[in-house]
Amino acid sequence: MTTTLQDCRALDAQDPLRALRDQFTLPEGVIYLDGNSLGVLPNTAAARVAEAVTREWGQGLIRSWNSAGWFDAPQRLGNKIAQLVGAAPGEVVATDSTSVNLYKVLSAALSIAGEEAPGRKVLVSERSNFPTDLYIAQALCRERGLRLLLVEPEDIAEALTDEVAVLMLTHVNYRTGAMHDMAAVTAAAHRAGILAVWDLAHSAGAVPVELHSAQADFAVGCGYKYLNGGPGAPAFVWAHPRHASRFWQPLAGWWGHAAPFEFTPDYRPAPGITRFLCGTQPILSMTALECGLDTVLAAQPLGGMAALRAKSLALTDLFIELVEARCAGHGLGLATPRGHAQRGSQVCLTRSEGAYAIVQALIARGVIGDFRTGDGNQQLDILRFGFTPLYIGFEEVWLAVEHLKQVLETGEWQQTRFNQKQAVT
Ligand SMILES: *Cc1c(COP(=O)(O)O)cnc(C)c1O
Repeated sequence: MTTTLQDCRALDAQDPLRALRDQFTLPEGVIYLDGNSLGVLPNTAAARVAEAVTREWGQGLIRSWNSAGWFDAPQRLGNKIAQLVGAAPGEVVATDSTSVNLYKVLSAALSIAGEEAPGRKVLVSERSNFPTDLYIAQALCRERGLRLLLVEPEDIAEALTDEVAVLMLTHVNYRTGAMHDMAAVTAAAHRAGILAVWDLAHSAGAVPVELHSAQADFAVGCGYKYLNGGPGAPAFVWAHPRHASRFWQPLAGWWGHAAPFEFTPDYRPAPGITRFLCGTQPILSMTALECGLDTVLAAQPLGGMAALRAKSLALTDLFIELVEARCAGHGLGLATPRGHAQRGSQVCLTRSEGAYAIVQALIARGVIGDFRTGDGNQQLDILRFGFTPLYIGFEEVWLAVEHLKQVLETGEWQQTRFNQKQAVT
């Protein structure tokens, strides 16, 4: 029996995490299935950022670096993020963008490998990794005379040879929602003498991550997706303590100096993760990010990431079930793995034509997901739906599928207005 709208309402009524939704300001009439691209606005953010502007900046001025907690914001926020990714206090800083942080950790990892195993000249990643990760890897390979080897997920194990210095992967794939077993892949890399660098952009705040127990080497992640930090929010960076103090990171700015206010001409890196800072931090953005982090930490007393994960899987299971039962015969496929252990917090549907227009027609109805292009080879275009368990409910899943069904049955998506591509898809 297919789950009914009444069933979904009952699931919402029994949901122990339901109250967490009240932390957010969601627009009326919108079903927001794009928290994997840009998380929603925490209720506290507008007033908190206004306070940072008018009181801390306006009145406190330069004094606020000390008195308003500006100077240690990267570490304070980092400690909050650490709780969500299985890291210890003092091991994470919030700073810069995911792309920039990836450059730093990849460079540090390659330096370690270069010292320990100078003969290894290959960096391995996944062909379908997020492009910025691949571009940063390409830039570093050019700089250092290395080769970037891109493989399909099923070929990673085989690619871990004694020529490889570093394996760089994104934990949850942005296009398919497929999730790697971080502990197993890291262990396989280590057995082959390879360092493992992980991008947690689609994991932090979405799925449980255990950086320590997985024995990962370095990690970066995104502040504006499941952490609800706001557009362009600072990202974060983690290095295992066995590596954090070993190398200069390449962007050796004064905020990563051991004593920035001694203004010495020589760089002396701060111990630990603080050396991964570069320059002055964007305090207003940090302020908004902290509001976002607090929305996720509010789940801690209710079971934390494990409880969020259970709800996320229930939501994505329900979406898959309803699409298959109610939208059958419309050419939709499933790109996301059915197995729980292999699935992040999103569901990606495929279609050979019209994927972009269908997403646009859904957005016009207030159901916001997004479109990701196929690679033109065998990959089909993707309709992507993110399910943030902090604020998405079961009834919304049912309604979203009902809208999808109507868009497909009426052929509404074929209208010209839904077929004109915009800059951001
Ligand atoms: C979203 C995302 C990014 C974003 O990088 P920015 O530097 O914030 O633009 C990077 N990597 C992955 C895997 C992502 O999903």
